[in-house]
Amino acid sequence: MAESRTEQFFKGISASPGVAYGPVHVYLPKELEIPDHSISEDQQEDEIEYFDEKLLATRKEILGLRDAVSGRLGRESAGIFDAHLLVLEDRVLIEESIREMRETGKNITYCVNKVAQRYIDAFANIDDEYLRERANDIRDVTKRLLHHLVGESRHGLEPILENRIIVARDVSPSDTAGFERGKVLGVVTDVGSKTSHAVIMARSIQVPAIVGMRNFTSLVKEGDEVLVDGYDGTVVINPSEKTLFGYGKFEEKKQALRRRVHAEAGEPSRTLEGVPIDLRANIEGPEEVGRVKDCGAAGVGLFRTEFLFLKDSGFPSEEEQYQAYRTVAAEVAPDPVVIRTLDLGGDKFPNSIYPTDREANPFLGLRAIRLCLENPDLFKRQLRAILRASAHGNVKLMYPMISGVGELDRANAYLAEAKEELDRKEQDYDRGIEVGTMIEIPSAAITADFLARKCDFFSIGTNDLIQYLLAIDRLNERIAHLYEPAHPAVLRMVRGVVEAAHAQGIRVSVCGEVAGDAVLVPVLLGLGVDELSLVASGLPGIKYMIRNLEFSAMESLAAEMLELGDPCELIQLAETFYEKHVAGLIT
Ligand code: PEP
Ligand code: MG
Repeated sequence: MAESRTEQFFKGISASPGVAYGPVHVYLPKELEIPDHSISEDQQEDEIEYFDEKLLATRKEILGLRDAVSGRLGRESAGIFDAHLLVLEDRVLIEESIREMRETGKNITYCVNKVAQRYIDAFANIDDEYLRERANDIRDVTKRLLHHLVGESRHGLEPILENRIIVARDVSPSDTAGFERGKVLGVVTDVGSKTSHAVIMARSIQVPAIVGMRNFTSLVKEGDEVLVDGYDGTVVINPSEKTLFGYGKFEEKKQALRRRVHAEAGEPSRTLEGVPIDLRANIEGPEEVGRVKDCGAAGVGLFRTEFLFLKDSGFPSEEEQYQAYRTVAAEVAPDPVVIRTLDLGGDKFPNSIYPTDREANPFLGLRAIRLCLENPDLFKRQLRAILRASAHGNVKLMYPMISGVGELDRANAYLAEAKEELDRKEQDYDRGIEVGTMIEIPSAAITADFLARKCDFFSIGTNDLIQYLLAIDRLNERIAHLYEPAHPAVLRMVRGVVEAAHAQGIRVSVCGEVAGDAVLVPVLLGLGVDELSLVASGLPGIKYMIRNLEFSAMESLAAEMLELGDPCELIQLAETFYEKHVAGLIT
């Protein structure tokens, strides 16, 4: 065959690490043929019965998927299917479809498609990331329902997945739910952001993924051999033997490193000179506590409690929360658990709090501590649960999104009330419980000296601090390239927070995603950050790196970086340090 086998390199946004090589399956879902015919009035009741039957079948399918994903990836990943069930059971969509059928005399399948399309168009055209995501939910659910109505088995990815690299314009969470590690080799999409549900799920099952490849689907064809480097976002069509050899060696090295790193996971976390750097894990629920011990973490540095509140069953009671917090506290004791109070809002919306109207700028809206201060009963219920759990381990309490001392004082006043309430009931709690503040709003960072006098520790939430400092929406893939953790403003801010904290004798942790970034960790530590809290799977690697680095070298790196104003030079410097001191560890 006279086909060109030229090697071609492309670059996207790396979304899930790992290297994969194999034949491509170009996933361009064919449009379903929707039957379009008139029905008589006598047939209308039969159509409604048929519709009900198919709604039930679709519901069953979604429930099955939810359970399968929940078993495999955990409750958080499966949460998207709860949202899908809500769409499926939405009376407005159902009733409007039936009304459309009665008014137009058309078959129900045709009417469902028409009504859903109207909603999808309305949502998709709104200039709001969150609402556009809802259009995707409606699209996904409708597709599933229409497949049942049309009577075709869902095309999905499931039957054609084995040992393929999926190349698609986008993948939905339902698509990703069919993925199994070892069967889907990798995922490459034209659009998408690192924080989309589908990508988060790919990351959980450790399938390499690259997003934001623009028109890549039109550049490959079924069966092309493709190499996916999820570490740096490179995709190679028809890679040469030389390239493959290089990547083969690279993967071998990665595997060997992984084994070496895991063998040392239980060792102390300290630099070559013996400077201790505490490494703790970020968790979202008690079911993750096993991983904390396995990865060699010194406890939990961030327990994101809001995930307990996003369940269909509504908000957890004080008792339910107490049980969850106590389980974690008891399991990791004597190591600490930093329990962060509710951070709802932003991109985390429970239906019960925001029944109808969405905010125009949810990340700048009624989020986290603001929401709690407006809902004292909800807040105090959580505070009491955390306090009660503190009797069973080493619990620390932390407030998110504090903007200054005013909010900290108000939060602490509720904490004092919660303590009094427990005292009255003679319920036990740790009277010396430490209370910390997240530093994730620039105003808090700038007034860190005041805050430091009123709390026991700081934890810098770089995910938000960077978005607010640089005015970069952390969910928007169109400006993802502007999200610069090594921006001089970020470095100065971290340094300022560390100085303010140390002047008052309190410690500073970083619990945003940069705490798991091997290029930036030496910078953070060099700036004086005392502790890091990160995803459990990344912790052994960061520990291994710290154990092989000189603290003084990291300090020199940070000092040099603080002198530079150009973000490109800054990141260059951090990468050069990484190449010189860290990359060598993996050869
Ligand atoms: C952060 O903002 O860095 C953080 C850790 O909090 P979250 O990602 O939950 O907003
Ligand atoms: Mg945050």
